[in-house]
Amino acid sequence: MKAVFLRRHGGPEVLEYGEVPTPEPGPGEVRVRLHYAALNRLDLWVREGWPGLKLRYPHILGADGAGVVDAVGPGVDPAWVGRRVVLNPNIGCGRCAYCLAGQDNMCDHWQLLGETRSGTYAEAVVVPERNVLPVPEGFPLEQAAAAALVYQTAWHSLVSRGGLRPGEWVLVVGASGGVNTASIQIAKLAGATVVVVGSNARKLELARTLGADYLIDRSQTPAWHREVRRITGNRGVDVVVDNVGTTFPLSFKAARKGGRILTVGNTGGPRFEIDNRFIFGKHLSLIGSTMSPQQDFRTVMGLVFAGRLRVVIDRIFPLAEARAAQEHLAQGAQLGKVVLRVR
Ligand code: ZN
Repeated sequence: MKAVFLRRHGGPEVLEYGEVPTPEPGPGEVRVRLHYAALNRLDLWVREGWPGLKLRYPHILGADGAGVVDAVGPGVDPAWVGRRVVLNPNIGCGRCAYCLAGQDNMCDHWQLLGETRSGTYAEAVVVPERNVLPVPEGFPLEQAAAAALVYQTAWHSLVSRGGLRPGEWVLVVGASGGVNTASIQIAKLAGATVVVVGSNARKLELARTLGADYLIDRSQTPAWHREVRRITGNRGVDVVVDNVGTTFPLSFKAARKGGRILTVGNTGGPRFEIDNRFIFGKHLSLIGSTMSPQQDFRTVMGLVFAGRLRVVIDRIFPLAEARAAQEHLAQGAQLGKVVLRVR
């Protein structure tokens, strides 16, 4: 099959497009003929590598994908063959204490498609049967692929971990990335008032169309925490969605006493200084999470399929142009998800 893979870490130039063996589904697994894959920042980090990350080469990147099941392994219902499905890239072992408790995103043997096993920049991928979800007839597969990772991540962080309630104020730091566009919509659906800080007017316009109530352009208002406090009558927001990381100092100031800071990533880099006095002095809760358990994935994808949550796609590239797609994502100018068309 055709795939985009790497044989060493590095910049976009290490991506190769070529032939690799088509994978065969093992016991409990299905093979999906991919129609679309979607990019995540994670793909760039896996490509670049980090200390301790060991890949088996050639390594195929990509966490998100959707397509049609074309083969099943031993023990799997053959009725799956021919079904349109979206992949849940978050793969638990199904046997450890966390998995048995329904917390498969904390699995002791946790795997992530495109990171610890072969991913979706390919014509086919093999995953456990429990990691595919049927896509309703008529729902576009590119939207299903683009939704999977970011929507489950945002839902688990805001709803399950963050305990978001109707009437609360939510600040989203960042306007246009996949998790942020998902977070804005989930917060609105939950009945919150949403404030968005974005880097320019174009990205904020997208946030507005997704339902954001208040917009702050940080290119015009670098001390944006003051504007958040002004909007909230000097109280501060109940919840901050901060997946930048380096913005924590301002997020702490923008939160109310007893506020929750939610984080699922660090687009600004992993290490930065924080002033601990804000955490105890303001009774703040710092709540981290990665991906979601299966139950949250199914819940949020149901809302996506029902049209209650919109999937924003910036641009679709052919699989063979994965390098250009990654370069586009790395520039950070995209509005929504970057997608690969596989067939
Ligand atoms: Zn497990």
